[in-house]
Amino acid sequence: MSETIFSKIIRKEIPATIVFENDKVLAFNDINPKAPVHVLIIPKQEIARVTDLKPAEHAEMLSELFSAANKVAEELGIAKDGFRLVINCGKNAGQEVEHLHIHLLGGKPLGWSPG
Ligand code: 5GP
Repeated sequence: MSETIFSKIIRKEIPATIVFENDKVLAFNDINPKAPVHVLIIPKQEIARVTDLKPAEHAEMLSELFSAANKVAEELGIAKDGFRLVINCGKNAGQEVEHLHIHLLGGKPLGWSPG
């Protein structure tokens, strides 16, 4: 895949408000938040889309991503009342950045009208 802005955020070449980091995962606030809490959780490994995932190869990384989502939700105080995880894939879902990412949204009751 070609590099995206998220690669520059991983390398700290452009600023972001980082809320979690380990050797495999980075989580940072979305620049254009759609909810009081809107964090992007990304693998440091460059994978463009959810359809590029291979279960055998990426199982550990996926587990790390979801563990990070739970950890961030807990630390930001939204785990108890609930939150939403979203992965957009491709044109019809409006995926803007071709680097796999999970949106973690919460901090208020969330509407449901993706259509
Ligand atoms: P997508 O539409 O691809 O699922 O989501 C991409 C997200 O990345 C959008 O919510 C957008 O606001 C966010 N985003 C795009 N560029 C940047 C950036 O430079 N910094 C941060 N923190 N978020 C970004």
